[in-house]
Amino acid sequence: MKRILCVFLCLITLTGICILHFPVYAASKRAGDVDDDGWITAADARLCLRFSVGLEELDFLSQEACDTDGDWLVTASDARNILRFAVGYPSDTLRHPAQVEENIDLTEKDLPEDARILYMTFDDGPSSFTTEILDILDHYKVRATFFVLYNPYYTAKYSEIVERGQTIALHCYTHNYGEIYTSKEAYFKDLHAISDYVYNLTGVRTNLIRFPGGSSNTVSINYKDGIMSELVTAVEEEGYHYFDWNYTNDDATGEELTWEEIYAAAIEPIDKDVKKVILLMHDTDAKQTTVEALPHIIEDYKDAGYYIIALNENSPGMHHKVQN
Ligand SMILES: [Zn+2]
Repeated sequence: MKRILCVFLCLITLTGICILHFPVYAASKRAGDVDDDGWITAADARLCLRFSVGLEELDFLSQEACDTDGDWLVTASDARNILRFAVGYPSDTLRHPAQVEENIDLTEKDLPEDARILYMTFDDGPSSFTTEILDILDHYKVRATFFVLYNPYYTAKYSEIVERGQTIALHCYTHNYGEIYTSKEAYFKDLHAISDYVYNLTGVRTNLIRFPGGSSNTVSINYKDGIMSELVTAVEEEGYHYFDWNYTNDDATGEELTWEEIYAAAIEPIDKDVKKVILLMHDTDAKQTTVEALPHIIEDYKDAGYYIIALNENSPGMHHKVQN
């Protein structure tokens, strides 16, 4: 009888250990919609926890099984935060299994045709936030593209972008519409100036560009009729590839948006199941909430199975309809 009891106790202990040390992969897999109703609820999160950490801790943990960012909705990211807290694993081990870190330097040519891809782009940098953005990209092991302009206050940041594995691309030297859009010559003078500036600071000569205001800007009408129609052809003839965007995080609206508003705009394509996203964001001294939203944005795209990679000359340009 004693022996049976002993075996029984051993079994219970072993089961306990197994439950407590349930692999993180499984935990993260369960950080989802367990009743398949399309929503991750507090009840789902509690079930995940029960499965992952064992019953005895559930009372305490169930109090934590609510939305961790206070938005009244328990998201997958909330569930992960709870699990992270409960299981004590570092955040970056609780990942969507589709996200293999080695994928970050792939290009779209290496990926399946129906792969979901997010190209994060930052315009108007560098700024006082560039290093923080680079830290976040490093942490999540993702890539982004920086369309930079001339900024003598942050000369060290240009090479930092390159040295930390991110992609540098050209925006403009002056960002002065009244100067660059007066003629084709004026535009190219500005473009060549930023090209040389970036080359001198980083050793990188890039042909990836983004027009100030995008190719669809109408502000250029004030300076020269038809200038954008002329430029979209001219830049390609000179061997440049220009990139517009199909979504933005709304951080250029002029108002001071909260990080939650920026986050909500940026993740819109996930709900709409958009396969290829070029997301326009800004890297300037005024855009603190852009930086605050960034980890949440990256986490949600990763959860949805997106590859987050940099633009290159074979990437889709997402060209807008030219309006001038
Ligand atoms: Zn700009």
